[in-house]
Amino acid sequence: MMCSMDHAERRRLLARRLDELEVEALLVMRQVNVRYLTGFTGSNGQLLLSGEPVLFTDPRYDEQSSKEAPDLRREIYHRAFFEALSSAVQEQGVRRMGFERHDVTFETHERLSGLEVDPVPVGPEVERLRWRKDPEEIGHLERAQEITDTAFELVVGKLAEGMTERDVALELELAMRREGAERVGFDTIAAFGENAAEPHHHPTDRGLGRGDLVKLDFGCVVEGYHSDMTRTVAFGEPGEELREIYDLVARAQEAGIGAVRAGVRGDAADAAARSVIEKAGHGERFGHSLGHGVGLEIHEGPTLRRGSEDVLPEHTVVTVEPGVYVPGTGGVRIEDAVVVTDGGCRPLPRAPKELIVL
Ligand code: ZN
Ligand code: ZN
Repeated sequence: MMCSMDHAERRRLLARRLDELEVEALLVMRQVNVRYLTGFTGSNGQLLLSGEPVLFTDPRYDEQSSKEAPDLRREIYHRAFFEALSSAVQEQGVRRMGFERHDVTFETHERLSGLEVDPVPVGPEVERLRWRKDPEEIGHLERAQEITDTAFELVVGKLAEGMTERDVALELELAMRREGAERVGFDTIAAFGENAAEPHHHPTDRGLGRGDLVKLDFGCVVEGYHSDMTRTVAFGEPGEELREIYDLVARAQEAGIGAVRAGVRGDAADAAARSVIEKAGHGERFGHSLGHGVGLEIHEGPTLRRGSEDVLPEHTVVTVEPGVYVPGTGGVRIEDAVVVTDGGCRPLPRAPKELIVL
């Protein structure tokens, strides 16, 4: 568990933005943002970030919230959240209250408009703060990656003719849970042979055969933080075309990693990897973005893609995951999460990237 000082520091950083946003308070309702700012991990909670911040939740979470957010004033509401919120904003004399415009439904907006306060739409301020990870967050990401690396090693050692994609996905998930993951981070992708041509293939009963490439994209969660890794291995000699594609993707990934450092824009990092694939004549076979931020959410900012103006800050964690997909034949993707540093970046995975031929 994180110490509450970290959360208080995050709230202070955000509170400094309130003047600029021309609001006296910010209502945070996105659960992942509430967690980031308070440490509270329950499924229902709201934070009023104001002169005297208030964490709202219901009686199911009275005990848990008192442990996870001991430094915050809490309001446990038995009836409606909006009544509790209304009392708090009136008591604190809040006239202009920001809300997360990207998260609020039309219905919630109607409720907010019924309060004695001006609701002011505010962009992804908390998400933006979350880009830069502190050492404790990086520690959780490293632990999640360690588990992912171990699962990869264990499951690659078990691959056998006739195993299905579903078997392999389940083995990866079991291994991660056994190694200490709190849960799987997203639907595991295990794709054999021609199925690997789909970037986001759902595991089927297709059996593993000699000459198949095996694409595995998987990850887990530790203390709320996600790992996300893709490796492609060959089950038997894959043939010349797939070997060439593997080498191409590996070179593109190297170029992408080489371009990632603090101060670089997301589109520039994407272009560094994409140009390698385009020069080889496979540009149209790399249809997705180069990467994304990863943390409390599996996909968060900053993004590495064409047109991304996101400037990578030091200590953000992003994935670098080029791929080439050939319909009917197969596909290759190689993905590492990397910690962005001043002069470059540090990949988290230890799992090898040279083509493993089993
Ligand atoms: Zn992935
Ligand atoms: Zn990813």
